[in-house]
Amino acid sequence: MNSSVQKKPGSDAATRERSPGKVYLIGAGPGDPELITCKGKRLLGRAQVVIYDYLANPRLLTHAPADAVFIYAGKKGGSQHTHSQTEINQMLIDYALAGKTVVRLKGGDPFIFGRGGEEIEELAALKIPFEVVPGVTSATAAATYAGVPITHRRFTSSVAFVTGHEDPDKKESRIAWDKLATGVGTIVFYMGIKNLPHIAENLIRHGRDPQTPVAVVRWASTPEQRSVVGTLADIAEVVKAAGITPPALVVVGEVVSLREVINWYEQRPLFNKKILVTRSREQASDLVEQLEDLGASCLEGATIALAEPEDWQALDQALARIGDYHWLLFTSPNAIRFFFKRLAELGLDSRSLKGPQIAVVGTATAESLLAHGIKADLLPEQFTAEGLRDALLARGVSGSKILLPRALMARDILPDSLRQAGAEVDIAPVYRNIRPPMTDEIRQALKQRRIDLITFTSSSTVTNFLELLGLEAEERTELLAGVRIAAIGPITAATARQAGLTVDIQPATHTIPNLVTAICDFYS
Ligand code: SAH
Repeated sequence: MNSSVQKKPGSDAATRERSPGKVYLIGAGPGDPELITCKGKRLLGRAQVVIYDYLANPRLLTHAPADAVFIYAGKKGGSQHTHSQTEINQMLIDYALAGKTVVRLKGGDPFIFGRGGEEIEELAALKIPFEVVPGVTSATAAATYAGVPITHRRFTSSVAFVTGHEDPDKKESRIAWDKLATGVGTIVFYMGIKNLPHIAENLIRHGRDPQTPVAVVRWASTPEQRSVVGTLADIAEVVKAAGITPPALVVVGEVVSLREVINWYEQRPLFNKKILVTRSREQASDLVEQLEDLGASCLEGATIALAEPEDWQALDQALARIGDYHWLLFTSPNAIRFFFKRLAELGLDSRSLKGPQIAVVGTATAESLLAHGIKADLLPEQFTAEGLRDALLARGVSGSKILLPRALMARDILPDSLRQAGAEVDIAPVYRNIRPPMTDEIRQALKQRRIDLITFTSSSTVTNFLELLGLEAEERTELLAGVRIAAIGPITAATARQAGLTVDIQPATHTIPNLVTAICDFYS
C-alpha cells in the first residue's frame, strides 16, 4: 500500500477537461485507529486516491478500497520529507483535476498544526470541490490517554494549543510568552521536544511557577505510548533521561496532578506489551482483540492457513447416510466451519443432521455449533481430545457408529481409543493445514527484541512456527532469548517444551479467555 505516484494524472489535455473530482481533507485522529470519526471512515471508503501522513495510523487504510492508489506523504519532522508541501499540494490538485475522489488523511485534526489550511487554499483558488472532516487532535488525546483532564473546574478554565517548533532564538517570537505563561491555565505544546528546555525556561522567565507539573506523552493513544511527568523546572532533564523523542506532546498545568487518580490507559494490565499471536489466520482475531483491549499490541503470525481438502468424498458419503451414525463429533470451530460450508454447497442445512447425537470438544466449538442452530448433546469436563474420549467412553460406545469430521492431519488418540472400545469410527477430512510464509515484519520484530510474548494455541502452531523460523536450535535460542511463551493447554505446552522452549504461561483450563487471564496474571 506504500506505493508512490508513478505518473502524473491530469497532466494531459484530455483529462484536464474532465470535471474535477473532490478532495476530502480528513482528520485521522491521534493514533488509536478507532478515534477517526464515523464520517471520516465512511468517506475513506469512497477514496480512489489516499494521500496519508506519517502520523495517520496506517491501519486506517484498510477502510479504503483495496484498489485505491495509496501515497505516503511522510513528514517526520526535521528535513526527511518524502514529499515537499508543494508536491503534496500539486498531487491533490492533479488527482482532483483528473476526476478522482481524493482523501487527504492527516494525523489528528487537519487544521491544527497540520497545514490543512494551506492545502485547502490552493484547491479553493482553482475551484476544486473539497470538504474538511475534523479529527480528534493529539493534544486532547494525549492528555486523556495520559490520565489528564485538559480542563477542570478546580484547576483551570482555559487551554492553549501552541507550536513548540518555533526557533527559540528568533528575535520576534510569534508567541506572546508573557501573556501565555500566566494568562492561560493548561498549555499544550505540539512539536516541542527539541525546544523543550527553551519552552520551560521561557514560561518560568515570564512568571509561571517552576513547580507547575508537566506531562510529556509520546505516541499517545497507541500501544507505543510512553509518558513522563516532571515540573517546569526539571521536565527537560526528565525527558532527556527517559530518552523521549518525537512525536510527543507537552502538557503544562496544574491539571497534570490529576494523573495519579485518572491514569486509566497506561494501567491496563497488558499496556506496552508486544505479543506475537501465532494462530491460523482464520482464528486469530478474537484472541488479538481480547489482548489489545487489555492494552497489548499484537502482531499476528499466521503459522497455519486452512484450506479445503483436496476432495470431499469421505464427507459426502457419510452425509448420504448420516442417519446411520450414533455420534457426530466436532473437535474444533474450524471443523464446524468447513463442515457446514460443505453442507451448504450440497444444498443441505442443519436439519439434515437428524439421527446422530452431537458431541463437541469445548465451549468455543459448542458456540460455533450453536451459531448453526444446534445445541451440543455432549460437552466434556476437560476440553481436550482425551476429555471428549473419556466422556464418550463413560457413556459406552461399543457397537456405535461415529463420524469425525476434522483436519486431514490430526492426532489419532480420539478415533483410536474409540475403536478400541468397540466403536466404528469414520474420519472425514473437512480441512487441511497449509503453511504460509513467515512475514518479514515478524522476523524483524524478533531480531529487534520488540516481542515480549508469543502465544501458542495448538501443537501445530508451535511446530509450524518453528519450521517457518527455519533456524538451527542455537540460533533459535538466541533469537527467542527473553521472549516469554504462553501455551493454551498441556499438549501444546508439551510440544513447545519438546522443541526446547520454556513455557512461562499456561492456563488451568484450555480456553482463549483463560489464556488471556493467565497472561494478565503473569504480568500483574
Ligand atoms: N494535526 C495534528 C498535529 C500535527 S503537528 C493534530 O491535530 O494532532 C505534529 C505534532 O503533533 C507532533 O510533533 C507531536 O507533537 C504531535 N502529535 C501528533 N500525534 C501524536 C501522538 N500520537 N502522540 C504524541 N504527539 C503527537
